[in-house]
Parts: sequence; structure tokens; C-alpha cells
Amino acid sequence: MATISDLVQQRLSAERGTVFKQAELAFALVYPSPYHVGMSSLGYQTIYRALNGLAGVSAERAFLPDDAEKARAAGEGLATYESRRPVGDFPVVAFSLAYELELGGLVTCLDLAGIPALAPERALRGPGGGPGGGNHRRRRQPLVVIGGPITFSNPVPAGPFADVMLMGEAEQLIVTLVEAVRDAGEDRDGLLARLAALPGFYVPAVHGERVPAIAAADNASLPAHSQILTPHTELSDMFLIEPERGCHRGCTYCVMRRSTNGGMRLVPPARVLSLIPAQARRVGLVGAAVTDHPGLVTILRGLVDTDREVGISSLRADRLTDEIVGLLKRGGYRSLTTASDGASERLRTLIERKTKERHLLRAAELTRTHGLHHLKLYMMLGLPGETLDDIDELARFGLELARAAPRVVFGIAPFVAKRNTPLDGAPFEGIAEVEAKLSHLRRALKGRVELRPTSPKWAWIEYRLAQGGFAAGHAAAQAARAGGRFGDWRRALSDVDLPPVTHPAAAAAPGTGAPGAAEPAHADGAGLAGPDQLRPPALVQIPSVDRRRTRAIGS
Ligand code: SF4
Repeated sequence: MATISDLVQQRLSAERGTVFKQAELAFALVYPSPYHVGMSSLGYQTIYRALNGLAGVSAERAFLPDDAEKARAAGEGLATYESRRPVGDFPVVAFSLAYELELGGLVTCLDLAGIPALAPERALRGPGGGPGGGNHRRRRQPLVVIGGPITFSNPVPAGPFADVMLMGEAEQLIVTLVEAVRDAGEDRDGLLARLAALPGFYVPAVHGERVPAIAAADNASLPAHSQILTPHTELSDMFLIEPERGCHRGCTYCVMRRSTNGGMRLVPPARVLSLIPAQARRVGLVGAAVTDHPGLVTILRGLVDTDREVGISSLRADRLTDEIVGLLKRGGYRSLTTASDGASERLRTLIERKTKERHLLRAAELTRTHGLHHLKLYMMLGLPGETLDDIDELARFGLELARAAPRVVFGIAPFVAKRNTPLDGAPFEGIAEVEAKLSHLRRALKGRVELRPTSPKWAWIEYRLAQGGFAAGHAAAQAARAGGRFGDWRRALSDVDLPPVTHPAAAAAPGTGAPGAAEPAHADGAGLAGPDQLRPPALVQIPSVDRRRTRAIGS
């Protein structure tokens, strides 16, 4: 039977671009989901390259084991891929956290590494040197750093586990962190006090639950791009590059809207194309609004004319043209995936989603014209103010789409309000309510549109974490240690106060249970238990990747 070391060796030997470096200041870069997810994360790969590019600094990767519960039961340790050094021996352990439910994986990684999960429980010794002595309880404990897409919305539930968090775009913050760690030597209190005074650093022990503003990276550091290619990812052997960052639109549920870090920043097509290695045969264009890039056709043409496969993380229906879909087809697309987000035109207007029925119908026609298999549309159910009339309109329109495209699939996610958006504070509609709407829609569509809903139960947990504070983080630790099943989360969160409903649309009809009302009592998941497994999240959104997990960072 293959051991963990065998598996790691197999994966390493399939990688291209791995950095093997020994340096005075070593970071363990931990992804709290399994390898095949973490290696699809452009942010994770970017920080890996940035750290390894600094003199005197190295970064090695570690991941949540593929079978985390088995690893926990077996008391497996957590070691890095590059050197198999135990993660707990590194002076700095940095996590990339993309999605609320990864908090369970983060706690499991800390437990497996033998690092006290809660920041105050960690030893007082500083982060500047090598591993500690033989006495485990008195050894130097690593500085635990957390960053990643979660910091764009609500990093507070991760606060109890972090010594420091990097808020937002981390390309320059990570360099500042390295300098501060070096300067601080053994003085961890001094280090944290210094970082807490700098923009972009959230030190929960100092700031409490008041989160500082997110940082923006210098435009000169764009575009982010892959360091390591491997066939063992969700995006097999795909070289990822970010031709734009941010979005100039204003959808009210999205943290990547135009008010975030100055909106959309563009990278010229020539620069994008120049960074793609000759041997990369598959290229993924990653960003919140890639199809809004005015040079998209030039980039696509440059890729398909050199016989590369392409993927785009976000196809905006109102930008799809015959030329773009033709290029995507040449680049290997077999289906078209875009988003409508609101169930009806009325809701789309309310949430400032500009997509109209005519854009979606055009996408359906282009799917047929270019011989693609199907059109997939992502949308949310349970937006504030949504009624069954909206669901009926969605059903009527779904049937119309099904006549225009060879096949239609709806990917449906329950709406989860995120911090740092205009819809922050809107309630979760309720598990039973969302399930009832799904059943209504399924009946009305008569099997002519395939529905692929994500679990309302897990969306409820995501909501509690997305809107929660430190107490939600403690509940995540409890749930992870109990096994991480839905029932474990429900029990753990049952002691945590529900977040207050603060959004005006939500407060408009208190206590009625109708859409837009305060959260119904049973929305806390009471009486529910199920076998749903925690699906690992992904940072980037490529058509083949479950989009539910990237809702907060754009579509
Ligand atoms: S949902 Fe998409 S289009 Fe809307 S603001 Fe976010 S990234 Fe932009």
C-alpha cells in the first residue's frame, strides 16, 4: 500500500517548477484543503514564488491530507512536500484561506502539525530561528499567519487562530512581513505591535473583531501567474495567469465590485502572452471580470493560434460574441458557462446585475451555433425579496433557453450574504425554504433543464461563518475536531448567537418568514442531520470548478 511519502514523491515527480530551497527564514505555506485543490490556487502559487524569490527566505508547501479524518485518527503529522520537514518546526506557518468552510481544514492542519490552534496558547518565544528543543511543550511555536481571499470579506472567525492576518492583496504585504519578522528576532510581542500599526495587517490580539482595510498590491506586481504545473489538480496542467484584477461593475452581493481596491486593473495583452511558458499547453485566464478585458480577443487569439487550450474563470454573458465563442471553441471549450445570478429580471436589477434575458438567450444560441454540448448558468436562490413569482419566471425562461441551446444546466447556490458588500447583513433564507423553492423549480422545468444545486445545509454553515465573529471560529474548531460532518457543525454553531439581521431589505418584513423577512427560527438547522461531506473549495473559478466556492470573489 502506498504511504504518504510515496504519494508525495509521486506528486513531486509529476510537478514542473517546484522550488527546492534552504534558507535562514523558512515558511511553511499550508493550504487547508487537499493538494489537488490547493495547487489550483493562483494566490497560493503566487506567494510561494514571491517568498522563494527573496534572498534568505524559503517556502515549502503542505496541504490538508486527502483523508483528513483518517489522518487525524491515525495521529499523522503534517510535513511539507519539498523537504518532508514537520510543519510545526518552521518558524513561520502561513495559510491561504479561500472559503469559510476551509476553517475546519485550517484547524485540522494545526492539530496535525502539533501547533496549538489558538494564538494565546502558543508559546511566547519568538519566530526568528530554528526548531525548538526536545520538550514539545516548551519548544518554539511558529508564528501563524493567515491570508487569502477570505480576507476580502470576513476574516474574523479565523482570528482566534492567527497571530497576524494579511488583508487583501498580499504581494507587498508578504515582503513587509518578512522584514518585520527578521527585525523582531525573539520579540514576538514587539513584532505583533509593529505589524498592527501597519496598513493591511490584522492582528486579532490587538484589533479584536474590528478589521482593518484590505490592501492593494502595486500594479507593477501584476499579473499573478502559476509557478508549478502538475496534472494532479482540478485544473490539470493548466498554467494560470491573471490578465486583470478586480471588477468595474457593482453587483451588490459581490466583494470584488468596483469599490474594492479601485475596481478593475488591466494587464496589456502583450505582457500576458509574454509570460506564458512555451511548454504550457493549457492556459487559464483568471480574474473577476476577464471577459471585460478590452484586449481579450488579442489574448485568446495569441493562445489558440499557438494551439493551446484555454479556460476563462468568468464568462460574462453580455460580453459573449460570435468571435469570442469561436475562439473558445478552438481553445477546447465543449460547453459554455456563464451566470445570471438573480432568478428574474426584477431581482437582477435589484442586485445591480446587468445581465438581461436577451444576453442569456444569445449565449444559448452561440452554444448551438458553435456545436457546444451545453450552456451552464449559475444563479442564486434566496436573495432578499425573492418570491415564487421570481422562481416561476426562472422556470419559464429556463424552458425558453432549453429550446435555444442543445442542453441547459442550472448551477444553483443559496444566497449567502458576505461582509464588505452592500448586501452584508441580509439573512439566510432558511434551509427548508431554499429546498422548497428548488422543488418548485424542478417541477416547473419538467426535466428539460438539469439542476445542479449546492447544499442549502452547507450554505447555512457558510452563512454563519461569513457573518460570524471569533465565536464562529471557536465553533469551527469544535466541528472539525468532532469529525467535520454537517451535524458536527450544526451542534457546534448552535451555541453561537445568530448574527444580527442588519440589511434594510431583510428588516422590511420582520417575522413573516416571507422572502426579505428576518431569519426563520428553523434556519439554524435544528433537527437536521445529513451525510453531506465538506467539499474542498477552490480559489479560482474555471468552468469545470464548482462555482459556489468562489461566489464571494466574483463571477
Ligand atoms: S459578481 Fe462579477 S460582475 Fe458583479 S461585481 Fe462581482 S466580479 Fe463584477
